[in-house]
Amino acid sequence: MKKAILLVIDGLGDLPTPKTPLQAAKKPNLDKLAKDGITGMLAPVGRFIVPGSDTSHLQMLGYDPEIYYCGRGPLEALGVGVALEEGDVAFRANLATVKNGKVIDRRAGRIDTATAATLAKYVPKEIDGVQIIFKTSVEHRGALVLRGPGLSCCVSDTDPHSPGAIHECQPLDDSPEPKKTSDIVNKFTKLAMEALSKAPENSKRDKPANAILVRGAGSYRKPPSFHERFGLYAACIAGGALYRGVATFMGMDLVMVPGATGDRNTDIAAKAKAAVKALGEYDFVFMHVKGCDSAGHDGDFAAKKRMIERIDREAIPLLAESGACLVITGDHSTPVSLKAHSGHEVPIIVHGGERKDDVRKFDELSCAKGGLGHVKGRHIMPLILNITGRAEKYGT
Ligand code: ZN
Ligand code: ZN
Repeated sequence: MKKAILLVIDGLGDLPTPKTPLQAAKKPNLDKLAKDGITGMLAPVGRFIVPGSDTSHLQMLGYDPEIYYCGRGPLEALGVGVALEEGDVAFRANLATVKNGKVIDRRAGRIDTATAATLAKYVPKEIDGVQIIFKTSVEHRGALVLRGPGLSCCVSDTDPHSPGAIHECQPLDDSPEPKKTSDIVNKFTKLAMEALSKAPENSKRDKPANAILVRGAGSYRKPPSFHERFGLYAACIAGGALYRGVATFMGMDLVMVPGATGDRNTDIAAKAKAAVKALGEYDFVFMHVKGCDSAGHDGDFAAKKRMIERIDREAIPLLAESGACLVITGDHSTPVSLKAHSGHEVPIIVHGGERKDDVRKFDELSCAKGGLGHVKGRHIMPLILNITGRAEKYGT
């Protein structure tokens, strides 16, 4: 049976200024796939809905976020390698710099990944009988997990999201579980600050990483696995914690690629090589590249265009030679002019196992004329099952 690779180029779609980065980029390999395959426009979550990367990936990989989304926290925690248990309450966490009671830098002076990792050992491991797991990922980012009876994710963030005092964690309803959880989070915030302020790693830092801010609480519930639902053995190749977390949530295997950093310097060729190699063992490979989204958020047209050109040069020839069915798209638009996600559709190519159309270029304008028309995120998995010959008949 045929195998498939889904390449998600994060934040790929854009608006013309007067061209889009995709229109401006030199990308002969992607254009060739568009010419030899079929194209269309994808609304990853739903038409005109502005997707988060988390809900969008869940939807595209066949997990309706209305049913399966349990907040960003658990996905981040899974992505940094915490083996979550049912009922764990997880948050996204940031190491930050606090001075005179105010957060002056939410990223602790862009602390490096190695130093950030060493700070985790100073943080409390248990409060009031509840186990505490704090793990860092890249730079200032990480996850906080609370494990124990009687916890709830109905609590507010401590992250002020801009310079100012750390917010107190508040219960969001009157039941005892959110009260207990918010009390523990507030104790954790205080104890972590005391411990991190004394950490020798911080003594020489201009901006000490002396506080931990949390946001995006969620309670973990284990869903049925990707293999159970679709019959495909699947692997994920991604640098960012969220994407690894989404894949882990679905029970996909992670293929770790040295140099896959989740930032703009990521080793795209190494990821593509690993994706092709993984086809030997797996039916389906989900490959994720983050850089275009980061460039979009920064409003950096040239960087977004460069990232598209790098993907075209370093990944597409390898993926095209693999013989697998290819589905190439984005998880949402991140227009450079908006510096944020938007509800505009994203171009999509399907190469192998489908019909062809007359479209000869991979960009927002050309693919709007494509033979797939307007597809939604929830169509991606049926599409993949169909082109790989795995779709089950509906009816007799
Ligand atoms: Zn995204
Ligand atoms: Zn983004």
